[in-house]
Amino acid sequence: MSDSPVSKNPAKKRKRINVRKPDVMAKVEAEVEGHYKSSIVEKIRANGGSVTLGNTTIKLAKQFGFCYGVERAIDLAYASRKVFEDKNIYLIGEIIHNPEVNRQLSDMNIVSLPWEQMDEQYDALTDDDVVIVPAFGAPTHFVEKIEERGAGIVDTTCGDVMKVWRRVKTYAKQGFTSVIHGKAGHEETLATASHALGVEKNGNYLIILTLADTDFVCDYIRGNVSDEVFMAKFGEKNVSPGFDPKLHMNQIGVANQTTMLKSETEEIQRRIQQAIVDRDSGVENFQVFDTICGATQERQDALFEMLEDKMDILLVVGGYNSSNTTHLVEIGEEELPTFFIRNAECIDSLEQIVHYDLEKKEEIRSDYTSILDKDAAVTVGITAGASCPNNLIEATVLRICELRGIDKSQMLELT
Ligand code: SF4
Repeated sequence: MSDSPVSKNPAKKRKRINVRKPDVMAKVEAEVEGHYKSSIVEKIRANGGSVTLGNTTIKLAKQFGFCYGVERAIDLAYASRKVFEDKNIYLIGEIIHNPEVNRQLSDMNIVSLPWEQMDEQYDALTDDDVVIVPAFGAPTHFVEKIEERGAGIVDTTCGDVMKVWRRVKTYAKQGFTSVIHGKAGHEETLATASHALGVEKNGNYLIILTLADTDFVCDYIRGNVSDEVFMAKFGEKNVSPGFDPKLHMNQIGVANQTTMLKSETEEIQRRIQQAIVDRDSGVENFQVFDTICGATQERQDALFEMLEDKMDILLVVGGYNSSNTTHLVEIGEEELPTFFIRNAECIDSLEQIVHYDLEKKEEIRSDYTSILDKDAAVTVGITAGASCPNNLIEATVLRICELRGIDKSQMLELT
């Protein structure tokens, strides 16, 4: 088993592979469209984002579904299979957080490798193999290991994730500790943490998730928490190796996972800055760089706009491990009955919907769904995170129509 952070045989290092060849991409585009496109979603969008059939109104958010980073990652994964028809192709974890997309790649015999820790499969890679790095990126020592084994790398890391890496590497160079607002168990944050060590691998990081974590950190900065209590709270998983709060909480640069809730991340930045001002009477030991990506921001903004109009329920469609989707659920839950569903099959009936709660388990909910009573007029809002394909939205729209007695042909006849 190998999880070494240091490359031992750089002589074998291979260059990244560019699979973006015009003839390949033309075929990929057709295949991707065939798998994930939806004519019904396009019709509703062309209709101003909402459609009323009988007493049922379906409303889509102005922005939802695949973002540019996800589209690019999927295209490159499909292209890899076309360019390397006969090679073993591996993928670090999942290409994005959507089971439907990951199943398609698995059907193409693209094999998922562990993403939390490397195992012997990484040791067994050869220079005849190809490894895809997903849209979230991967920790530096994973990539170094793959290079050491001589395998080819198709890197689909989103440019917005790489922006965060550049920022935390700058913090490391300047001797600032990166405080990363993100999920310690999320692929992107693991990768960002590895980059926060910097080129010299002597940088430091602390990962925080909640406002309660932030207040605890602020208490430490103001001198109200001991080093021991600080370390006991965050443990090894959330700090860089050898982290010593006495040394490493003096100069702080805040960055965030690209898919966090914008309002929360801004509040975290504000609170930490204030704690440093209280301690130092100045801001020279504080830096911040907002790294929420444009796609996440647009989807959150579009939902806020959608919520200005009255709706009866909101369905948020997406993979349960998708961070940006989870935040859409949180926003919806503040305003109206909101259901987090992985696909249309979760809508059992008008009375029962299988919902993934933010405590991380599926539950059958029958509260509020009585408002879907066939005889009453209802408005159903639908949105989706950046990793959800339109064909899953279409299936959700059609399922609602079916349960409310609307014929599919009526939807298809929309002009
Ligand atoms: S959600 Fe943002 S960071 Fe993630 S792939 Fe999409 S654009 Fe890139």
